[in-house]
Amino acid sequence: MTEKRPAILWFNGAIVPWDQGTVHVWSELAIRGVSVFEGLRSYWSAEDRCHNLVALDLHLKRLYESARIMRLPVDTDGSTLTRAIYELIAALGHEEHLYVRPTLYVDSGRYAASGRDVVCGAYIVAFPVPRAQATLMGARCCISTWRRASDLTMPPRAKAGAAYQAFRLPLIEAQQRGFDDAILLNDRGTVAEATGAAVFIVRDGDIITPPATSGILESITRGLVIDLLRTEYGRSVIEREIDRTELYVADEIFMCGTLAEVQPVVEIDDLVVGDGAPGPVSTAVRDRYQAHCESPVGDRPTWLTAVPTSDAHHPD
Ligand code: PMP
Repeated sequence: MTEKRPAILWFNGAIVPWDQGTVHVWSELAIRGVSVFEGLRSYWSAEDRCHNLVALDLHLKRLYESARIMRLPVDTDGSTLTRAIYELIAALGHEEHLYVRPTLYVDSGRYAASGRDVVCGAYIVAFPVPRAQATLMGARCCISTWRRASDLTMPPRAKAGAAYQAFRLPLIEAQQRGFDDAILLNDRGTVAEATGAAVFIVRDGDIITPPATSGILESITRGLVIDLLRTEYGRSVIEREIDRTELYVADEIFMCGTLAEVQPVVEIDDLVVGDGAPGPVSTAVRDRYQAHCESPVGDRPTWLTAVPTSDAHHPD
């Protein structure tokens, strides 16, 4: 199947035709995947005829934290990237929800070089994304035979391109076994996360998620969901280690992430979760999260940033 490509991208300072977004095969980006990146969603509000980015500041903060951890001497700053994201969304002109992918990478210099021997580059790709079926139907997951890397191997809190090699085998394994996604255990054997989403369980009335020190990416959606549960439902989320078999006896399991949004898990390692249908906590969080992301200006939560229209952005 050929993937549909956007016509343009933002590449080192300018919007260029898709075919001009190239790096050399001998760059460290191509050889060893030396990059850090973010995945944001921009929701199209038909009512206001504008795009709204979810948690833009938190995504940029994590991007630069990833660059700091991975020691990429980046010189493209956050305000340049913000303007570039606005510019790209306006230039694409899609009236539908988008996924936005800013990436910082090593363009020249060897992978452990430092100082002036390294030159970094930046690019942003954005394209429409449909909502995953699993948000409605629920996902079927397995526990991977692969482990999530620890902070001593490949720091999970850095969203580094190369780190995603470690999700490739778990995903292939899950698909070969007929599951939608894999949940990975960490080096201590407790639950870490899915291949692109944080994991929550509901057990005997408690809502529980692994702590930030459990070998997880510090998911921004996880933070928004914790906040939403506290402020809108008066429910506090317990952050503690979760054993594998707690997933087998949980009343509900759900996953969340920017791209995934909130997805109930209805089956784990061939065991039905609850009664096999998305449970009340999962569906309430899923619906409320989606409603916030898609809300019109008046009801917009503070974590949405309206993308200026091209007219507003370029007054002349
Ligand atoms: N874990 C991993 C490994 C991910 O790639 C993602 C997606 N960025 C998440 C969790 C969810 O993070 P976020 O809510 O910030 O999108």
